[in-house]
Amino acid sequence: MNEKFIYLDHNATTPADLRVIEAMRPYFNELYGNPLSLYKFASKSREAVELAREKVAKLLNAEPNEIIFTSGGTEANNVAIKGVAHANLTAVRQVKKRGNHIITSKIEHPAVLKPCKWLESQGFKVTYISVDKYGVIDLDELRDAITDKTILISIMHANNEVGTIEPIEEISRLAKEHNVYFHTDAVQTVGKTSTNVDELGVDLLSLSGHKFYGPKGVGALYIRRGTKLVPFVHGGGHERNLRAGTHNVPGIVGLGKACEIAELEREEAKKLKRLRDKLYQGIMDKIPEVIFPGHPENRLAGTLSICVKYVEGESMLINLDFEGIAVSSGSACASGSLEPSHVLLAMGIPREVAHSSLRFSLGRDNTDEDIDKVLTVFPNIVKKLRKISPFGKHR
Ligand SMILES: *Cc1c(COP(=O)(O)O)cnc(C)c1O
Repeated sequence: MNEKFIYLDHNATTPADLRVIEAMRPYFNELYGNPLSLYKFASKSREAVELAREKVAKLLNAEPNEIIFTSGGTEANNVAIKGVAHANLTAVRQVKKRGNHIITSKIEHPAVLKPCKWLESQGFKVTYISVDKYGVIDLDELRDAITDKTILISIMHANNEVGTIEPIEEISRLAKEHNVYFHTDAVQTVGKTSTNVDELGVDLLSLSGHKFYGPKGVGALYIRRGTKLVPFVHGGGHERNLRAGTHNVPGIVGLGKACEIAELEREEAKKLKRLRDKLYQGIMDKIPEVIFPGHPENRLAGTLSICVKYVEGESMLINLDFEGIAVSSGSACASGSLEPSHVLLAMGIPREVAHSSLRFSLGRDNTDEDIDKVLTVFPNIVKKLRKISPFGKHR
């Protein structure tokens, strides 16, 4: 990339840390043994996988045998949600509670919403809980939704689009009172904020390497001891029979390293918050009629979601891209479609305003100069686009 490139899309993915890449390197062509093979050479791979498991567990304050490796956050969510649901259909398993009802929220990532939708097609009932204008789960609605058939609650730790952090401890108290399993998609918080599974009180937690400077295509699921779930990837007996397939050894080693580094970089959130607030203040000062979805305080440090009235998100994205600035509009996974973000709609933002959304997500590599550059070019982009705006308002 040329020197001008400014990456402000860290909620979509992050660059792998050089220390992560160095840790992974030997496992491609030096220590390439299959962890399950029986000779000494392969035990080096096995030990590396188990060391990585310890590092992931340490970051979560969990036990190593409560961690299984997956191909990322999407798969971890699928293993958790379908695994608990199907344990209820499988007579051979002693499950916590029998039932067919799952509770989630309207603002989950598609990696939670789609498995839930699929389970509905398989006869499960799913309730999608509303959020307030900040994107916070309605706890009363959640409490009222729990029935004696409820087997699982899945609510994300922090939202990837607006950054709002959910009241996980309160939700876990409700889940415990009703003897219901509680899963959280913590892909946006692991490595960025505290994700102590005992403090959070969760039974299942998903994480993904590439969202916190680890490699892509590797993640993990925390499964509290005693939690019953059935596998859906069948094959060899890997990962305690819960997720078959030869281990992605370099990826797993990289994930472990990323967890270790995250513990060293705990102070980073302060820097991100300062830069994010500077960006927020600058946009406030320079651009009229902008709204800032997301909770004002309980929010990921590096995330700034905005709606710039009368301008389309995609147009702003393309114009920023011309300037070498990478951001995301609405939901990254929905981009290319004309549907506005389901998260913003659930927060009560009108459709036409939701179309004007943009997300800046800052990371380790960002500097004051990056923010200065955005604050120099972005107001002009908005001014230009508003002049030609088809929404009838000219500024
Ligand atoms: C990125 C993301 C995922 C998907 O993780 P992958 O590792 O890319 O499959 C799931 N949930 C949230 C909240 C995310 O931000």
